[in-house]
Amino acid sequence: MTTQTSPDPAAEPGGDAPDGGEGVVDVLVVGAGITGIYQLYRALHEGFSARLIEAGGGVGGTWYWNRYPGCRFDSESYTYGYLFSEELFEEWEWEEEFAPQTETERYLNHVVDRFDLRRHMRFGARVTAAVFDEDSGTYRVVTDDGTEVRARFVVAATGVLSVPYTPDVPGRHAFRGEQYHTGSWPEVPVDFAGKRVAVVGTSSSGVQIVPAIVDDVASLTVYQRTANWCTPLNNRPITAEEQARLRSGFEQLRETLNTSVHGFHHPANTRSAFDDTPEERQAFYEQMWNSPGFMKLTSNYLDLLSNPEANAEWCEFIAAKIRSTVEDPETAERLIPTDHRFGEKRPPFVAGYYEAFNRPNVSLVDLKETPMVEITETGIETTDGVQEFDIIVWATGFDFGTGALARMGIRGRDGLALVDHWADGPRTFLGVQTHGFPNLFFPGGPHAAAGNNPRYNGDQVDFITDVLLRARASGFEVVEVSERAEERWTAMVDRGAASPLSFGERSYYFGTNIPGKAKRYLLNSAGRPKLFSVIADVIANDYDSFTFSHPAHQAEAAEPHVTAG
Ligand SMILES: Cc1cc2nc3c(=O)[nH]c(=O)nc-3n(C[C@H](O)[C@H](O)[C@H](O)COP(=O)(O)OP(=O)(O)OC[C@H]3O[C@@H](n4cnc5c(N)ncnc54)[C@H](O)[C@@H]3O)c2cc1C
Repeated sequence: MTTQTSPDPAAEPGGDAPDGGEGVVDVLVVGAGITGIYQLYRALHEGFSARLIEAGGGVGGTWYWNRYPGCRFDSESYTYGYLFSEELFEEWEWEEEFAPQTETERYLNHVVDRFDLRRHMRFGARVTAAVFDEDSGTYRVVTDDGTEVRARFVVAATGVLSVPYTPDVPGRHAFRGEQYHTGSWPEVPVDFAGKRVAVVGTSSSGVQIVPAIVDDVASLTVYQRTANWCTPLNNRPITAEEQARLRSGFEQLRETLNTSVHGFHHPANTRSAFDDTPEERQAFYEQMWNSPGFMKLTSNYLDLLSNPEANAEWCEFIAAKIRSTVEDPETAERLIPTDHRFGEKRPPFVAGYYEAFNRPNVSLVDLKETPMVEITETGIETTDGVQEFDIIVWATGFDFGTGALARMGIRGRDGLALVDHWADGPRTFLGVQTHGFPNLFFPGGPHAAAGNNPRYNGDQVDFITDVLLRARASGFEVVEVSERAEERWTAMVDRGAASPLSFGERSYYFGTNIPGKAKRYLLNSAGRPKLFSVIADVIANDYDSFTFSHPAHQAEAAEPHVTAG
């Protein structure tokens, strides 16, 4: 496995590698986010012919679509960017610890141009069908502009948070003002000046946009279904000395990030909460409160998620912070979660969110107390009456994990539709392949780990590339994971759902935010260590979890090479 280091970063891809024969591209990547760009780079670098198709109008995936005011990282910028090229790391100076969307979009465009990848990419084309043809061992891939591509391997790097979800509130289409979803924000900036604005949803995106627009709007009403445990992001500019230290420490940083459980560079805490005295704990919580981003989860007490008492004490500390920040006591109480512990849902990080509620023109509507009834032509009606708006912002999340793959028209052996194969929830091996769908891979999809995304997704891309190289080296064109390997990985994921370290059932990691979606755990809660150990086993056993074979039209001439698992 290559662990996100290019074997020879100087040898850059970009040459027009020959097609895989008869108009067949070797590797077709779908999605120009951080995962798809890396997969395209790796495939070209290894001499495969490769193309990339993207529905959006440009590079960036999440960082192309989520251009709402206030959108920025919760991962430290330099830990999120690519690590495969030290030159790239050296030449890009992230301006802030937690970069805004604009900087990340610029960075990903820089990478694409730096490695001459753009000419292999097509934008504004959504894949609507990807159908496996057993005879040729290839996929026929169709896009919404009517174009067809034949591909030997399809890598769907289509993202876990790439299908925005808007609740089906009656009357939504009748609203005569403007309405936007944070996850598909227009390229032309939205003018909030002097407008009456509603923000619906108070998860990671909702809590970012509120403080970002509060200075511009005439009034802002926040509709909250679930209060979240928001803690400070503690962003700041990166100083010149820190830039220099980052550069000189690149190898160490890469080593840390390539081996850390969550893909962050945060030190793990070895102490449990009640190893410390009450005074020491309060001092530690204060230190955590002032720490950057996810450190409040990754460097907090060892038993934060497994010991309810430890968790409750940390939650009480946050609640006290909310009460001391929000001047109106009733609003403060509404902003304090009562239905889940810290870490049971993806914790949002904020700057100025709670403070916004001290403005006279900002108010909070608790949808548990006064549910939404309908959207009228001029505003939002709850059981408490109608409020009129010029703009409604839907910060209501995504069809997590499987949303994009379910909408791609994927069919495998015997015409089996992926949506049918996964009707009760996804089944995967390592979160990269599913049995019955040869030559299809989906890094960064369901059954990946939570944490600093590009690190885990990059591990998967490296592994997929190794599998493709193994197929090429042995002269086989069709690769399919065994049913047994898939069963074992899926059972491991399901077992993890019950673990105290997994996210709670109310989180979107179980798919419960989408009406009608099978309630299945969508993450590998054993994280990177499990991924690493299984990958090491697979490689040590010469990829025995996969079958390598020839397409049906050649199959009589040769037997499959490896099976089992
Ligand atoms: C607002 C927001 C903030 C986030 N912040 C962080 C963070 O701080 N740290 C972190 O680790 N993670 C964060 N994430 C998670 C983030 O999604 C990942 O970090 C990362 O961007 C995933 O990259 P990806 O390439 O796998 O998918 P994406 O970036 O989602 O890219 C997938 C691409 O595939 C395209 N696509 C999908 N289906 C099709 C189709 N059928 N045809 C053609 N194209 C298609 C989409 O248009 C999209 O551009 C955040 C997510 C959001 C929404």
